[in-house]
Amino acid sequence: MSTLQRQLIAPFSHLVGQEKAKLFLGRALASGQLAHAYLFRGPDGVGKQLFARSLAAAVNCRQRQALLPAAGESDWASLPCGHCSSCLKYSSGNQPDFMVISPEKGTIKIDRIREMIQALSYPPYESPSRVVLIEDIHTMRPEAANCLLKTLEEPPDKNLLILTASASRDILTTISSRCQMIPFFSLRQEETVQVLMRVNPELEAETASLLARLSEGCPGQALILYRREMIAIWRQVVALVSDPQKDSNRDVGLLLQAAETMATLKEELLPLFGLLRIWLRDLLVAGFSGQTGQDRDTLDGGLPEIKQKRWNSRQLFDKLQAIDQAEKELGRNCNRNLVCEVLLFQLQQ
Ligand SMILES: [Zn+2]
Repeated sequence: MSTLQRQLIAPFSHLVGQEKAKLFLGRALASGQLAHAYLFRGPDGVGKQLFARSLAAAVNCRQRQALLPAAGESDWASLPCGHCSSCLKYSSGNQPDFMVISPEKGTIKIDRIREMIQALSYPPYESPSRVVLIEDIHTMRPEAANCLLKTLEEPPDKNLLILTASASRDILTTISSRCQMIPFFSLRQEETVQVLMRVNPELEAETASLLARLSEGCPGQALILYRREMIAIWRQVVALVSDPQKDSNRDVGLLLQAAETMATLKEELLPLFGLLRIWLRDLLVAGFSGQTGQDRDTLDGGLPEIKQKRWNSRQLFDKLQAIDQAEKELGRNCNRNLVCEVLLFQLQQ
């Protein structure tokens, strides 16, 4: 992620999804009654970092300062304003009263925590409050966490701490019990598409829809898949296994080639399986509802050029099970190439 992206901020009204978090934090901003430490916890890629940076900017936004102490219930929606002197510094990464601590080589270093504690012993440089963002605190080792506890429980006056953590990873209760927890959730399909199209205006609607489904409502994850051209590989595989026109001799060579490509995927292989699963489930649902390939509003709506084989529901269930089996075998460190070959032959039958 570039520095510019990492510093991106947006008014609360522009942030997509997380309505409860917005309402809760917005009211706290408007009333001037912010907690001393927040923990944003939720799935990866749902916007925790953007929310954290936007909250940090909103705290010191000149527009908010002008509204306090009598800000109205709805005034928070326009914060941070994005154009006052403080917001401009946040956007450009030059806000002296905003500190970010991120994992280095997979973990938050204790030295960074010590430096932060030292910095907090001085008043903010130019803003009403200093904001410290500690990202991915699930990567923090116990010694660094212990070093943080006292500051987290009672930060010096005019300091706000915002911590983020993945929902799927454990965090020490000594950390979570000292913060106000703000849960984050996966976005709805249409919200995910909205974020993807906003970030990548050139993205085709069908591809955005596919990515949204595959990422299960986590736009950050969807963007990673997009950059790695997962959708292109998925389309190739679907075209190969579902086209009834090809002759069998040529098919074998193409399948082996596709299996080899799949096997070279690293952490993207399981998401590819996820995409194939969604595609097969869509075919299953379409079969039960009596829809044809032409009137389906499903994943293969992104594949108008492909003629689908006609599989019955039993065959489709078998293919879904074949994917489950392939996933299990990968988990047991079986030969990736072989697992992919077997899977493709089963999908093609
Ligand atoms: Zn502002």
